[in-house]
Amino acid sequence: MRSIRLFFLLLLLLWPTQHLLAWGKTGHRVIAQVAYDNLTPRARRQVDRILGKHGIVYYSNWADEIKSDTIYPDSYDWHYQDFDPGLSDSALVACLTHYPQEGGNLFRAMDSLVALLHNDPSNADALRFVVHLMGDRFCPMHTAHLDDLGGNRVFLQWFKQPYNLHRIWDDGLIEASRYSYSEYAEYLQDHFSDQARAIRRMTDADLLRHNYALTNEIYDYYADWDGNCWHYLYHFTPKMEWQLYASGIRLAMLLNDIYG
Ligand SMILES: [Zn+2]
Repeated sequence: MRSIRLFFLLLLLLWPTQHLLAWGKTGHRVIAQVAYDNLTPRARRQVDRILGKHGIVYYSNWADEIKSDTIYPDSYDWHYQDFDPGLSDSALVACLTHYPQEGGNLFRAMDSLVALLHNDPSNADALRFVVHLMGDRFCPMHTAHLDDLGGNRVFLQWFKQPYNLHRIWDDGLIEASRYSYSEYAEYLQDHFSDQARAIRRMTDADLLRHNYALTNEIYDYYADWDGNCWHYLYHFTPKMEWQLYASGIRLAMLLNDIYG
């Protein structure tokens, strides 16, 4: 009995310090499906040839699934890039080129993998990573605060379950919709398609500013939050959905550039 209690205590102590699965499995599939629907016919043929038909959807969670494997032992911190709160605009944007020394390696990994794909477009593992990491890049709690491990140490109750702030954005908001990944992808494209052009025009700096502002809004909202989960859903679901859609559009843009 004591050993069982010890096991659960250890689980409780260790679990929240991990960066979990950004967007959860459904979210990454939604992003990949939106991207797939926005590929040029030529790019779609190429990625289908490399990963199999609809392979970018089926492999969109592969990078999370192999975290504990030994094939890419350094890939654990490719999934996030935490920031100190209160960064100036110039300090924030500088992180895109002068990669921070701590708090993850998302930007460096993404740039290296994209360069690798430009060099060798048939590199299947690099493609699988890029499909996934483009999603992580748009998850606001994967570009969150360093001191609480991207919200993993902000503990709260989510519909009467023990949760943390990071996890609400990994799966709490998405799963509340009860959509399948394909239903969600279809809905997002019906709902946001008039914004696709503007999203394509955004620079990487624009996108990072947007993400950082959303992250700060999430922390500010939490500071005054009365714990009402429905109010949280009403407030943040449209913003979460924009992040998923924009991520899919930017992934398509990148893949069209490499394969189109
Ligand atoms: Zn991830």
